[in-house]
Amino acid sequence: MLDVNKIRADFPILSQKVNGKALVYFDNGATSQKPQVVIDAISKYYQEINANIHRGVHTLSQLATDAYEISRGKLQNHINAKFPHEVLFTSGTTHGINLVANGFASILKPGDEILVSAMEHHSNIVPWQMLCEKTGAILRVIPMNLDGELIMSEYDKLLSDKTKIVTVNHISNALGTVNPIKYMIDKAHEAGAAILIDGAQAVPHLKPDVQELNCDFYVFSGHKICGPTGVGILYGKEAWLNKLPPYQGGGEMIKEVTFEKTTYAELPHKFEAGTPNIAGGIVLGTAVDYMNEVGFDNIQQQELELLEYGTKRLLEIEGLKIFGTAAAKTSVISFNIEGIHPYDIGTIIDKLGIAVRTGHHCAQPIMDFFKIPGTIRASFAFYNTIEEIDVMVEAIKKAKVMLS
Ligand SMILES: *Cc1c(COP(=O)(O)O)cnc(C)c1O
Repeated sequence: MLDVNKIRADFPILSQKVNGKALVYFDNGATSQKPQVVIDAISKYYQEINANIHRGVHTLSQLATDAYEISRGKLQNHINAKFPHEVLFTSGTTHGINLVANGFASILKPGDEILVSAMEHHSNIVPWQMLCEKTGAILRVIPMNLDGELIMSEYDKLLSDKTKIVTVNHISNALGTVNPIKYMIDKAHEAGAAILIDGAQAVPHLKPDVQELNCDFYVFSGHKICGPTGVGILYGKEAWLNKLPPYQGGGEMIKEVTFEKTTYAELPHKFEAGTPNIAGGIVLGTAVDYMNEVGFDNIQQQELELLEYGTKRLLEIEGLKIFGTAAAKTSVISFNIEGIHPYDIGTIIDKLGIAVRTGHHCAQPIMDFFKIPGTIRASFAFYNTIEEIDVMVEAIKKAKVMLS
């Protein structure tokens, strides 16, 4: 069992007061808090080994390069990629998706199809729309039901030899649904299509095994798994990464440059143009180490308990409706209270120290599907407690009285 109080002591921000009240941080779906080891590792990098990487022969440059590549190895192990060069450092999920979508511009022809799901984050919709505009490919949407589950029989029907790539989130940030990605990956491959998994909302809760999943691409952000902002991972199968053209040109990604012709560097450098977020890359390894030390079994157990308890307590509130009632769900609860705008609840409970997200959660099509302007979203992490849920429920009850 997880000793939550011991874990909480690792996160200095959690003992802060906000608006004079003890902070209750339930906006983990937007970004996670950072443990002291991660905060310290950032300072340590700048205090001791700051230098540019993969360039200098001098000692600091070599130390920084080693630390960066060691971190890549940690991420490789974490997701069980076959090779370290299949693990690309990016600035985050958004960057990873854009890199792949841009690469597919050289592959798609007019009339080819891209399948996205009805519950994607905008960052897994817009790059594909831009790709369609560029190539004449067509975007098709895998529909969902009222529980917020993708309808697999419809997915099967949409797949055809026109489908070139499928893109779907592992877990929905707005609904908490865990999608049947193994099934979807196998089906995409049967149809001869590639598949990208947006794992941004999954990696805080579970450890993906990209070889077992057999996905072609898997992307996520560091800042949702206790790491810093501005760094993330794009996993791609070697064959795909060799096939796709580089995304950005510049330093580091070349083998040889003349004004007549440039040849590109080997993987992973081909996709890592320019000076990256070196500290971020190194510290992402620290963050992953930290989460593995806590243990994903412990994390899941704690979060499931919070999900069950939170769901039960919230449903005690009259007029409260939860959006996202899939059988397979993670610790995200999206809800509304009849007759009250989500923003008003969010504003009042913020005064009581409670951080939740209100709005469309970068997933407007989901809000349109449910015909609502937005929701209040409480997203729990392993460092949250049952007592904090009680505090939130009381605060919402108070807000409800004030607003009705
Ligand atoms: C947060 C999130 C993103 C975007 O991540 P960035 O870090 O903003 O690039 C994409 N998809 C999902 C499901 C997310 O939760």
